Amino acid sequence: MTQGEEKIMNKAFCEKLSHLSIEGTAEEIVHRFIEHLKFDLGKDEFSATPYDCYVSFASAVKDILMDRWLITQPQEYALQRKRVYYLSLEYLIGRSLGNAILNLDIQKQSIKALTENGFDLSLLSELEWDAGLGNGGLGRLAACFLDSMATLKIPAYGYGIRYEYGIFFQHIINGEQVETPDNWLRYGSVWEIARPARLFPVYFGGIVKEEILEDGSKKMRWIPEETVMAMAYDYLVPGFQNNYVNTLRLWSAKSTREFNLAYFNEGDYMQAVADKNHSEMIAKVLYPNDNKMQGKELRFRQEYFFVSATLQDILRRFLKKESDLRKLPEKAAIQLNDTHPAIAVAELMRILVDERNLPWEIAWEITQQCMAFTNHTILPEALEKWQVLLFEKLLPRHLQIIYEINERFLSSIRITGLYDDDFISRVSLIEEEPVKSIRMANLAIVGSHSVNGVSELHTDILKHLIFKDFYALWKDKFNSKTNGITPRRWLMLCNPLLSELITQAIGSAWKTDLKELAKLNKYKNDSTFLEDLGEVKRQNKLEFCKYYEDLHKRKLNPESIFDFQAKRIHEYKRQHLNALGIIHLINQIRDGKTPYPQSFFFAGKAAPGYFIAKLIIRFICALSDYIEKDKELSRYLSVIFLPNYRVTLAERIMPPAEISRQISLAGTEASGTGNMKFALNGALTIGTLDGANIEIREAVGEENFFLFGMTAAEVKNLKESGYHPYEMMRQNEDIKRIFDFIESDILNPLNPGLFTPLTDLLLYQGDKYCLIADLPDFIRVNAEAVKVYQDKQQWNRMSLANIANMGKFSSDETIKGYAKDIWGV
Ligand SMILES: *Cc1c(COP(=O)(O)O)cnc(C)c1O
Repeated sequence: MTQGEEKIMNKAFCEKLSHLSIEGTAEEIVHRFIEHLKFDLGKDEFSATPYDCYVSFASAVKDILMDRWLITQPQEYALQRKRVYYLSLEYLIGRSLGNAILNLDIQKQSIKALTENGFDLSLLSELEWDAGLGNGGLGRLAACFLDSMATLKIPAYGYGIRYEYGIFFQHIINGEQVETPDNWLRYGSVWEIARPARLFPVYFGGIVKEEILEDGSKKMRWIPEETVMAMAYDYLVPGFQNNYVNTLRLWSAKSTREFNLAYFNEGDYMQAVADKNHSEMIAKVLYPNDNKMQGKELRFRQEYFFVSATLQDILRRFLKKESDLRKLPEKAAIQLNDTHPAIAVAELMRILVDERNLPWEIAWEITQQCMAFTNHTILPEALEKWQVLLFEKLLPRHLQIIYEINERFLSSIRITGLYDDDFISRVSLIEEEPVKSIRMANLAIVGSHSVNGVSELHTDILKHLIFKDFYALWKDKFNSKTNGITPRRWLMLCNPLLSELITQAIGSAWKTDLKELAKLNKYKNDSTFLEDLGEVKRQNKLEFCKYYEDLHKRKLNPESIFDFQAKRIHEYKRQHLNALGIIHLINQIRDGKTPYPQSFFFAGKAAPGYFIAKLIIRFICALSDYIEKDKELSRYLSVIFLPNYRVTLAERIMPPAEISRQISLAGTEASGTGNMKFALNGALTIGTLDGANIEIREAVGEENFFLFGMTAAEVKNLKESGYHPYEMMRQNEDIKRIFDFIESDILNPLNPGLFTPLTDLLLYQGDKYCLIADLPDFIRVNAEAVKVYQDKQQWNRMSLANIANMGKFSSDETIKGYAKDIWGV
């Protein structure tokens, strides 16, 4: 151990250091629990709160993680294998305690340690706050990938931002969403390790100067105006029961002012502290938009801040062992999770060309070979474009580099004579109209050796629609990697009863090889097993009822069909289509046709500035109220909006779910992963041919999936040939009655016209997401599902077919695909 060049530890001490390791016995866990309580928190039997006990116990578990991490990391350092760097602005992690205990394989000891001392693991676990550093699917995917990379022993680092405020808390007050801040670090986090010395400067603004070197060549020098320091916080990522622990490194922003003594000598202490706040704003808050670009300067700063710090850290690690940067692609694979980190292309070029003096062509080779880009959405409003004015202000040198990348790229295709001016303006990195901007997706595509979509349909749309010009240029760059979910969190942790049933039937191999679940197919005609499966679902429903009734003081009907739509609220996801289907059921009950009892659960956050999404929440809550207050209706129906959808709530709802609603308009949902969680836990999907639904349906068998709606091709045809939703409504009595019901204001007597903006969008403003067109088939499929449900054995058989055939949707499988086809690890 050295500090600078000087040894600070003698041999005897080093011996002791390497010999102190933790086995993880119950005794050790209790001992460490007590030590943390006493000596970290300074608490005793009188002063310790339940939260103190959670913190101290979790800290004991973290000690074991740390011990394994301190074995993994030097091993990997010695091996010098190629490392994977996953760059993501979001990580939707949820809780860590249960996952750490499971992956460390210390469940038995932990429960023994706790119960012998009068504690309850599940009660303590409930005290942990969710780490909600993401909006939805994209951030959760990043978290599942970290779990799988560690499980597959891939030397991998996640990089992102340590937001002080994660995704907001959602409250429902008088049937409306109200947001409050998620101050998740108020009491600190047990799981993070601050690295105050792992500090990098990140620069903004200023000017670029041209210098003439001695040999007459020109060189650009960026003279920035502002510096913000990025400080590392590490989170340990354990693989599943393999003693392998990776690192998630999140950057926090620190002002340089506290390091700048001269500043204080100038005497402007108050201004120094004010400036400090300004710099530290960068890592303050997660932008709460899902699938929408907002174009705010602070977001632009966040993106560059984390990319710059990350690339400095990657190069530092590389240069410890190597000196020739040409070898970087042999040692580092950099995966860009959407375009949010796409500025990495220009930043790596800047470092290689300006700071390391490599020739442009060599630097470009290195950059392209390192970078790979994952696209997550084709919604036009989500595609990132940053104004050139913003670049000029904050990243003037990067703008020059992007111009040069663009010029070289465009002239390389012009020279072939194969492409016209329209083509060239479409693939250009620069958009001229309406405001001159940089197209970040084009930058990411040009600067990467791999571009992938996240399901087969989505990749097809990339190739043939939104990136078709790039596909014409570089067919080989494009590939598909269907998303996946980790079976540890999304089955073993959240659904112990089902996990146990599966293990009893087919053994434990499915935990690391989910395709083993196919062995369950042999039980499809075993009525005892099917009954056991039904019993597990029933128990999970009862458990959920208890949880819900304790929390919300409202009764649920466990005999009803548990039907869930849980995901961000978005027009393209069509929660309002689900609501229209429920109004149809109301109309049927009014006609005297009594349905099988059904409980419709909705959960999901709306972006705070997304008016229509918030109105959809009000619509669902109004429907919920109306039904609850009506004796006749509430006998058969209930609609429940579960507030504050987050990873922990998702873990609660997967086990009891019987129907999973995946009803986005075909061609809009890139993949979906909620669809996978539900199906893996035995819910049957009512879904469109969209995203990964198509592959789920193929895997589980079309007879075990409730399909409805248009295909993506039919949507395209309908829109091209002229879609007239109002006329369609007029010609369909069921649909007409649904809209009459809404327009009667019976849901909102005190607030007439409240939902007019919503119905206007559908009837008079083009119904962009084709709810009206899909509604008749939706009504049909809902009735079909309810009919099938009444044959319990048939339903359980279909449920089993779903569980048994979800193997390919393990994120382990997805990561194997990235490792082989993209990263070469
Ligand atoms: C899985 C998950 C999502 C993604 O759900 P989709 O249905 O794929 O949009 C969003 N939020 C949370 C909390 C999740 O766990």
